[in-house]
Amino acid sequence: MTVMIDGRGTAEKIRSQLKQKTEQLKQQGLEPCLAVVLVGDDPASQVYVRNKKRAAEKIGIKTKDITLPANTTQTELLQLIDELNDDVTVHAILVQMPLPTQLDENAVIERIDPKKDADGLHPENLGHLFMGQPKALPCTPRGIMVLLEEYQIPVAGKNVVIIGRSNLVGRPLAALMINADATVTVAHSKTKELSSVASQADILVVATGRAEMVDETYIKEGATVIDVGINRLANGKLVGDVKQASAETKATYLTPVPGGVGPMTIAMLMQQTLELAEKSNN
Ligand code: NDP
Repeated sequence: MTVMIDGRGTAEKIRSQLKQKTEQLKQQGLEPCLAVVLVGDDPASQVYVRNKKRAAEKIGIKTKDITLPANTTQTELLQLIDELNDDVTVHAILVQMPLPTQLDENAVIERIDPKKDADGLHPENLGHLFMGQPKALPCTPRGIMVLLEEYQIPVAGKNVVIIGRSNLVGRPLAALMINADATVTVAHSKTKELSSVASQADILVVATGRAEMVDETYIKEGATVIDVGINRLANGKLVGDVKQASAETKATYLTPVPGGVGPMTIAMLMQQTLELAEKSNN
């Protein structure tokens, strides 16, 4: 039987710990603050930003909300980031991606002070991660590691296959897995015999953005399957990158979509905001 990994419940547990932590910090005179920058009016981004602000509110983390018009220039956005970098009351900065096409996302990420890097995507932070000395961490990969820990799924010495090599998920997760002593394979759209590569995995992580592309032929009997994908079908249904019913015939552990990795990403963003606030105080 497959155990469904409860990301929602785990995230809830973490959030209640973070709420206590926030209260402690406030008693010490530190009010953690996350700046949330949204450029343009992409409906999906608006929903993501709203969810992040709501999560912060529930924990007691202050947010500084900045919404800029879709025609914002690179200079204007970089100037705003400089101001947030200099603002001692702001401890973490999040710029919601994707940005409108006239803006250079990498340049924006690089402009954020690495000590205020809420998403953990600044090259300096990715560098520390790859050196095995992590500071700020990317939230989705971190959330996956916490879920594995929560369910006491061993990583050391295991074969981990990650399908997807984005800077947001696949690459940093590979580094976290290496740091946790896994043997890691990163597959992508040019990988040959993908299902055969994937079926070597004790832990299979799928982050492709291709709705339900992974079925039981990709999965080793007894494997743990982590489905990162969030895809909305034409009928409005949300599905992952894994065909869930098919995966359940082989997997021992499986993350559902929704309610698996997604809620953990936001919980990790909150945790990182508190950690950055605390570090700024030391
Ligand atoms: P990207 O589009 O940036 O990367 C997708 C990766 O998958 C690429 O490396 C690509 O390969 C690979 N890929 C695409 N198609 C195939 C295929 N047919 N076979 C093998 N590999 C393939 O996506 P992200 O990493 O940003 O996101 C992946 C998914 O995770 C999306 O559904 C996204 O919505 C979701 N997501 C969920 C989060 C959450 O909190 N749950 C957070 C972030 C993302 P190549 O490099 O060769 O092009």
